[in-house]
Amino acid sequence: MAADGDSGDFRLTAEGVATPARRVRVLLPLPLGEPYDYKVPDDLDLPPGAYVEVPLGPRRLFGVVWGEVTATVPEGAVPDAKLKPVLRRFDLPPMPDVARRFVDWVAAYTMSPPGAVLRMAVSVSAALEEPKAVTGYMRADAPIPPDLKLSPQRRRVLELLADGPPRTAAELAQEAGCGPGVVRGLADSGLLLPVPMRSLARFAEPDGDRPGFALEGAQATAAAALRERVAANAYSCTLLDGVTGSGKTEVYFEAVAACLRAGRQALVLLPEIALSAQWLDRFERRFGARPAEWHSDLTSVVRRHTWRAVANGEVKVVVGARSALFLPYPDLGLIVVDEEHESAFKQEDGVVYHARDMAVARAHLGKIPAVLVSATPSLETLANTEAGRYARIDLPSRHGGASLPDVTLIDLRKPDQAPPARHWLSPVLRDALAETFLAGEQGMLFLNRRGYAPLTLCRACGYRLQCPNCTAWLVEHRHSRRLQCHHCGYAAKLPDACPECEAEGSFVACGPGVERVAEEVAELFPDTRVAMMTSDTLFGPRAIQEVIEKVKAHEVDLLIGTQVMAKGHHFPMLTLVGVVDGDLGLSGGDLRAGERTFQLLHQVAGRAGREQRPGRVFIQTHMPEHPVMQALADHDRDAFLAHEAEGRRALELPPFGRLAAIVVSGEDDRAVDQVALRLGRLAPRDRHELTILGPAPAPMAVLRGRHRRRLLIKGPKALALQPVIADWLAKVDIPSSVRVQVDIDPYSFL
Ligand code: ADP
Ligand code: ZN
Repeated sequence: MAADGDSGDFRLTAEGVATPARRVRVLLPLPLGEPYDYKVPDDLDLPPGAYVEVPLGPRRLFGVVWGEVTATVPEGAVPDAKLKPVLRRFDLPPMPDVARRFVDWVAAYTMSPPGAVLRMAVSVSAALEEPKAVTGYMRADAPIPPDLKLSPQRRRVLELLADGPPRTAAELAQEAGCGPGVVRGLADSGLLLPVPMRSLARFAEPDGDRPGFALEGAQATAAAALRERVAANAYSCTLLDGVTGSGKTEVYFEAVAACLRAGRQALVLLPEIALSAQWLDRFERRFGARPAEWHSDLTSVVRRHTWRAVANGEVKVVVGARSALFLPYPDLGLIVVDEEHESAFKQEDGVVYHARDMAVARAHLGKIPAVLVSATPSLETLANTEAGRYARIDLPSRHGGASLPDVTLIDLRKPDQAPPARHWLSPVLRDALAETFLAGEQGMLFLNRRGYAPLTLCRACGYRLQCPNCTAWLVEHRHSRRLQCHHCGYAAKLPDACPECEAEGSFVACGPGVERVAEEVAELFPDTRVAMMTSDTLFGPRAIQEVIEKVKAHEVDLLIGTQVMAKGHHFPMLTLVGVVDGDLGLSGGDLRAGERTFQLLHQVAGRAGREQRPGRVFIQTHMPEHPVMQALADHDRDAFLAHEAEGRRALELPPFGRLAAIVVSGEDDRAVDQVALRLGRLAPRDRHELTILGPAPAPMAVLRGRHRRRLLIKGPKALALQPVIADWLAKVDIPSSVRVQVDIDPYSFL
């Protein structure tokens, strides 16, 4: 092709005609500001979104084509002569346009490099490669040679293959109880035939035509409304608000069914912790096949397989934690965010983002419906429904007429309600437990604190055992005989003598953790069968499922646990819930402390009396008059939310204003201080619509060995803070030893 000859560098082709190199911008999965330019080899077809391999210095990296192939050299670009070529294209459908725009959008909103967001979207780069063909073996159509000695092991392998599908050497060896060499020996002698196999089974397709439960009344209306949204082929955002047990899941399953019937993909986001085997089984019962799962617990093989199957459109329904949002869906038609109020949707490291908010943005870009589901919606979402930005559907009552549990506040300040010294269960709660066990029913004690005691101190000198890497006390775990830091994972044995005063055996445990509550229960009710439910005692969804089965089979009388236990489990015989320390989440200067405590305790309380037997909830508190406690006791969520909203509106705090945090951290205390102070001095204080607080030492002034300072910037709702922050940060030189992390819409104030 002849060049017009007015711009750029030219090279001479063999024919002597000057042609500019074809070039393309490729986004790399690195924290870079911009895509890089690469030369397109003549034989390569590179549509936007193509996954490619490119050189970067001595390395080879994957990247994604982030624009059209062009033949001009844009101003300031690398000249043709220095351009490196794209090495190859991976055999995959290109990353869809909407997925690429989403990466850019999230990067801009969270003020992260687009490459860092791309790395979340292609979190398993091995998935780009065609999976290796796996060799299976079948019985060859050959008679057994008379001179061949058949060992019992060989015979067993042949018998196994007489009927049944081809299997890998490893599978056959396992089934036959021999080594894989036996299988290979048989293949060498011509008795087995190697055949290529797909390494993993295809994903079965959930069936949108299978009928669900018969829905009536509010459920039917809600389901019809959601089906309509799915059919509309347009962006919408709907809050599905209803008490626990009102059938929200059944209702949003109808939206998923509608999406499947339309032949499109659906995504259900759940907080990781709620992604239970129970939920998956329920989905399977409804749709006849399991959804694809996406969360941190998957093996790398399953991860690769799933990523490819989503990209190919083979997977129709994904249920996943927040990162599932970034999968390269070619035809996403619906996003459901269940438990939308959960703070677990906020990712705090790397790219700091809130998956619920990003889900709405993804729905907007993709022109599809988003459905936010909760029994205790966030103030953010409620403010959006009140402003008319989101629609709202209510499911007012529990399915089957189960009534809400009776909530009693136990006033720990009153002598007759307070527990005895060094004990944690009030006589009121003890009596209720005794009654429950006597009636052959089950109970649950909730304390959101792992371990035995949150603080250990020296009786002689008052010395407190602290983490060497964090501003945090070490938590005693008797179960594992260790002291642990819940922030960095540091663990140590309890020292024999106090490091400060050298007194021996002087350490005392202060305050309760779940292990200590279990000790008290054992003392009070020695015959009670107790199960613990914490992230220390249960690893992964399967372990949780085992405990759940035991509770259902009534092999357990009492569950004691942390918030792992609070999620949607359904126990028909569980009629009593005791909250050991209702005030736990309320201390500290967190903007959402009240809201979060309410959500958590409401959810815990919802575990009681889900079927015919009425439930009772007891909350131990030093602040029975606190609006959170009052709202729980009176079942008056809306009064609480109104109160909470009023307070935030008055202070222009989210959701009625905007907030961003800037966290400066590093190992060198002084370097961190210098950057923080400079940021403080150069803050845009001339802009009167903004409030800037700090720099101040973060409440966790040291975390994992890094010193931390915080700044907060607050502005009116109508003002985007990102450009303001970008200008501000550009004024400050940041040495490489110091990290400045911007957190738009912060949820953690540590
Ligand atoms: P939520 O998600 O609001 O907590 P679920 O959808 O889990 O509520 O419903 C609570 C229980 O009631 C579940 O066991 C569910 O299967 C059952 N259920 C809800 N609606 C119906 C219905 N229309 N017919 C039969 N069972 C239902
Ligand atoms: Zn620590």
